[in-house]
Amino acid sequence: MGNLEFVETLVIGSGPGGYVAALRSSQLGMSTAIVERNQLGGVCTNVGCIPSKALIAESHRYELLRLFSSADAAVSFKNAQDFKQGIVNKQAGGVGYLLKTAGVSILEGEARLVDEHTAIISQSGQEQSISFKNAILATGSRPIELQAFPVGGRVLSSTEALSLREVPTSLVVIGGGYIGVELGQMYAKFGTTVTILEGGDQVLPGFEAELVGPVGRQLKADGIKMITGATAVNVVQSADAITLHYLKNQEQLHVTAEYVLVTVGRKPNTDGDLGLDRIGLPMTSRGFLETDEQCRTAIPNIFAIGDITSGPALAHKAAYEAKIAAEAIAGLSSEVDYRAIPLVVFSDPELASVGLSETEAKAKGIPLVIGKSSFGINGRALALRETEGFVKIVADPTSGIVMGAQIVGVEASTLVSELALAIEMGATVEDLAMTIHPHPTLGEVIMEAAENVAIKMVRGE
Ligand code: FAD
Repeated sequence: MGNLEFVETLVIGSGPGGYVAALRSSQLGMSTAIVERNQLGGVCTNVGCIPSKALIAESHRYELLRLFSSADAAVSFKNAQDFKQGIVNKQAGGVGYLLKTAGVSILEGEARLVDEHTAIISQSGQEQSISFKNAILATGSRPIELQAFPVGGRVLSSTEALSLREVPTSLVVIGGGYIGVELGQMYAKFGTTVTILEGGDQVLPGFEAELVGPVGRQLKADGIKMITGATAVNVVQSADAITLHYLKNQEQLHVTAEYVLVTVGRKPNTDGDLGLDRIGLPMTSRGFLETDEQCRTAIPNIFAIGDITSGPALAHKAAYEAKIAAEAIAGLSSEVDYRAIPLVVFSDPELASVGLSETEAKAKGIPLVIGKSSFGINGRALALRETEGFVKIVADPTSGIVMGAQIVGVEASTLVSELALAIEMGATVEDLAMTIHPHPTLGEVIMEAAENVAIKMVRGE
């Protein structure tokens, strides 16, 4: 325990929200401390974005290897896990290095608020009190546990699923959201027989059906069985297998596998002994904190960012809010603008969306014009043998201002940033269409989709 007694900014939690907030606070000249009860870097670095993307990338490399040689899945998976852990450790170490070099005090332990200006930090039976002028809460989230499927034994959450030491022979995933699809497909590529059970009428329920189409086809090609419109009921575990009972069309059915992975969403870490009730901070019925456009809660010197606030639970949203909150504390006029938060699914092929979709625009009665272009006619995509998918742009029919875009296809995760920038800057489809894109690149598909919109506007279609 240190002897720090007062800081201008106390940040609780060191995920992509917390550590970015602490860095920005320190860069802006405020004395700053960050409290973390686990390893630095939060869910994203340790058991979320980074390890999942490392294993997904390794599963693609294994798939390629298998094409040209008799690569061994067990050996490749063991190597993949070692590779993943190396990256996780490097990133977590990087977070610590950044914080230390920025002059942020790192306090190890669990924080609880005792009043609006004081927190107690406890670790291994020792306690330290610290007072603060402002606090940024960034305590993140944890997997929702369903009563009928308590994690343990053969029931895994995403955390355990990222750390299996051997490729399972079979896996049933409850929940076809992005985490379920990403992890299910990763294991399928290593040879696991995967079943995804989803309550909605398609996997990735938040995305338009035409975008999910190419992903669904590849999931099938990878041998994944998707059961939609189904409700998981309970599990029965035995020594060497687990049977999941589910309901579909009022019929009781079951599927048996080596493991069941539950990915049905995440729950904000606003409960427990954090002390939000104690200091009178109101929460929504689902435990989220409500904030204003500067990420300030109902208590003016306490800010909340990331997964504990409403909106998409994503690392880049947390990091974005982190900067706004720290800047607000420094007296700057920064405010959140959520029009351009990209959503990415690291499936094969990748899927990305930013801003307004055609479906949302139509539901809200917003006039729109759309344009599309396919990867199938793009030279670079052909060279990469990655021709599945398309780019779709949604624009205002009068001004041509880009309101949203969706991409399914190779490198959608990278390509979507150009479209996020377009929305952020109020760019028009003409701006995108007349920007010279290098040839042959995947970005040309964005240029062509924008041209497609611009031509429709000229024709008055
Ligand atoms: P967290 O990262 O959850 O960090 C909160 C930290 O606070 C934790 O380290 C916790 O130990 C600490 N803490 C909590 N309470 C206390 C306390 N009282 N005292 C001290 N410390 C405390 N997002 C993406 O954008 N892209 C992806 O590709 C992606 N992939 C994901 C894959 C998986 C498998 C999972 C589970 C998540 C993924 N996410 C992804 C979501 C992303 O990880 C979260 O949105 C992000 O980590 C949220 O950041 P945060 O700072 O709000 O909280």
